[in-house]
Amino acid sequence: MFIGHYGPALAAKGFAKTVPLWVLFVAAQWVDFLWATFVIVGIEKVRIIENFFGLSPLDLYFMPYSHGLPSAILLSLFIGGVVAALLPGNRVVIIAAVALTAFSHWLGDLIVHRPDLPLIFDEMKVGFGLWANPYVSVPVEIGLMFLGLWIYDRAAPSPTRAGTIALWALGFFMAALQIQNTFFAEHPASAEGFAQLSLFGYVLLALFAAGVDWARKEKAPGR
Ligand SMILES: [Zn+2]
Repeated sequence: MFIGHYGPALAAKGFAKTVPLWVLFVAAQWVDFLWATFVIVGIEKVRIIENFFGLSPLDLYFMPYSHGLPSAILLSLFIGGVVAALLPGNRVVIIAAVALTAFSHWLGDLIVHRPDLPLIFDEMKVGFGLWANPYVSVPVEIGLMFLGLWIYDRAAPSPTRAGTIALWALGFFMAALQIQNTFFAEHPASAEGFAQLSLFGYVLLALFAAGVDWARKEKAPGR
């Protein structure tokens, strides 16, 4: 899953208002940040095969450290704890929001991946395989993202008009990115290239989210 992962991040922002959106964007892809890093250094393995599964070229045959269920749970609690230690606000709310956002990544992957998510070590792999039909998976991903965006915008409306526009603009950009990435993109030929491109995309979207944070800040002091 790609853009759909940002649905839970956006929804969480509506409840954990002291956590910047960009932090939740990083949390949403936290296990993929590790996955990409592990692929680049050779700890985890992926093969790039065009149209391997639906239109996805990813044969994710070995990723127990980033995408194994026990690791995903521990990694989610870890990032929740780190963010709660660093940011002001209600600790319980922050841990819950960040850890659940991070763990929702695994659940999102569970919906779309073929059975390549190990339940324990590198064994008992699961995945419901929605990516087999991109004409279903792409609307589901975009729908999840916009649902989260709408929840955020209703739960914590922007004090500025620019903030509302920036948030929805980011939503439409991400929807376009999902469509482009699934149907029109030429994929990198190597696993490392794919991992690097993923990292670049996740960092770019986190930067855009930081821009949305800035645009939605209260500008006039007092009131
Ligand atoms: Zn993933």
